[in-house]
Amino acid sequence: MVQLSVTLILLTALLGCAGHADPITDETYLLGTVIRVSIHDEGYKDSLIETVFERVAEIEARMSTSEDDYETTELLSVNRAAPDERTRVSPDTFEVLQSALEYSALSGGSFDVTIWPLVRLWKIGSGGTSVPPQEEIERARSLVDYTGLKLHSDGTVSLAREGMGVDVGAIAKGYAADEAARILSEAGVEHALLDFGGNILVIGAKPDNSPWRIGVQRPDAERSRYIGIVRTADRTVVTSGPYERFFEEDGVRYHHILNPKTGYPSRNGLEQVTIIAERSIDADALSTTCYVLGLEGALKLIEEFPDAEAVIVTETQEVYLTSGVERHTSAANRAATGGATDAEETEWADGAVVTTFELTDDEYRIVE
Ligand code: ADP
Ligand code: MG
Repeated sequence: MVQLSVTLILLTALLGCAGHADPITDETYLLGTVIRVSIHDEGYKDSLIETVFERVAEIEARMSTSEDDYETTELLSVNRAAPDERTRVSPDTFEVLQSALEYSALSGGSFDVTIWPLVRLWKIGSGGTSVPPQEEIERARSLVDYTGLKLHSDGTVSLAREGMGVDVGAIAKGYAADEAARILSEAGVEHALLDFGGNILVIGAKPDNSPWRIGVQRPDAERSRYIGIVRTADRTVVTSGPYERFFEEDGVRYHHILNPKTGYPSRNGLEQVTIIAERSIDADALSTTCYVLGLEGALKLIEEFPDAEAVIVTETQEVYLTSGVERHTSAANRAATGGATDAEETEWADGAVVTTFELTDDEYRIVE
């Protein structure tokens, strides 16, 4: 059995800023992935990016549940505490748990912040190479129940039952990206691109006031191949899919997004979900939630969020867009499939954000 644990850059910014100075860019490895920050304004120093990385490292050290990487963290303490024992956590961790709990309730437990017993059992992406015994899956599954997580008004948290645990792997990267953007914005940055292992966040538009172009990668192909391109500004674009961390057994792919109801990796016909939103914590939580919910549930949920849009791709290579995304088909693709207009025709009036998705891969089709 081969352990496959690759971190793909799923969404890649397609840069190109003719006429403007080169951005200052730096990258590091944090949150289990490569994170890259590019500032496109003039007059900033590398040290600002260092400050951003230090903040992300602080968030990781508080919220990681990796016993390989950390002897202890706030969340490891929470998970090791006795039933109903209260553990004090930082405001950071409290806020992330609060948000994760909201998404758990909102999705009826398709997203579940207490997924830890299943994550620890499967170890997908951290050494797991085979399907655990059924009785262990059942036992872990019975311990996943977000109603057993209590957030107390004194800033402490507790879990109801022995063996329960929290895991914020589906949402912490988003929170970290928002914090990184806050630091940059407070320092006066108006044009920047943050890439946290495929969780993209852009500040402003590009310096020439054109939209950023963010490639939505084709999940089954090498990095350079895209299904299409999102054009947007002042937004975050986050994808969840089954291909970043997984192992294969008997020809079946077992990936890292788990369905709390079955105890197994989620399997419902979706290939990937990309969320475009204002806050990365929301986009991160929603992309995982929608991936588990499946097509119908995902489309319904996103329409309830005025600030969020989605590009949902099915295993049958159909692409579904929510109502706030303008749809376009590239010229080559239009010839093949008979689609609508070019994205270039979209007007970018000052200050108005128009998010568009341009389909560029003619093996896919947009479902109207
Ligand atoms: P990535 O971390 O690869 O960007 P996601 O944001 O979709 O992808 O998060 C996946 C991670 O979330 C898993 O590695 C695990 O830690 C956690 N997780 C898996 N399934 C669920 C679920 N149903 N609800 C909440 N968290 C989950
Ligand atoms: Mg997520």
